[in-house]
Amino acid sequence: MRPQLADMARGQQKIQSQQKNAKKQAGQKKKQGHDQKAAAKAALIYTCTVCRTQMPDPKTFKQHFESKHPKTPLPPELADVQA
Ligand SMILES: [Zn+2]
Repeated sequence: MRPQLADMARGQQKIQSQQKNAKKQAGQKKKQGHDQKAAAKAALIYTCTVCRTQMPDPKTFKQHFESKHPKTPLPPELADVQA
């Protein structure tokens, strides 16, 4: 009887630990998603001078500018950017 009980208890512990892990991972996922969203929002610092589209980095900005507004001269801050 006793060894069986011990096994059951161990099995129960294993399940609880798995559930705990799953919960932990879900929490981390949620937190990460939130952080990424906040980071993305904070990173949108380049605003296209022509169409007001916001971009996270100068590379994207320059690519956007060259493809969307090829007739508009590049803003001086993009002149040195390697796209
Ligand atoms: Zn634009």
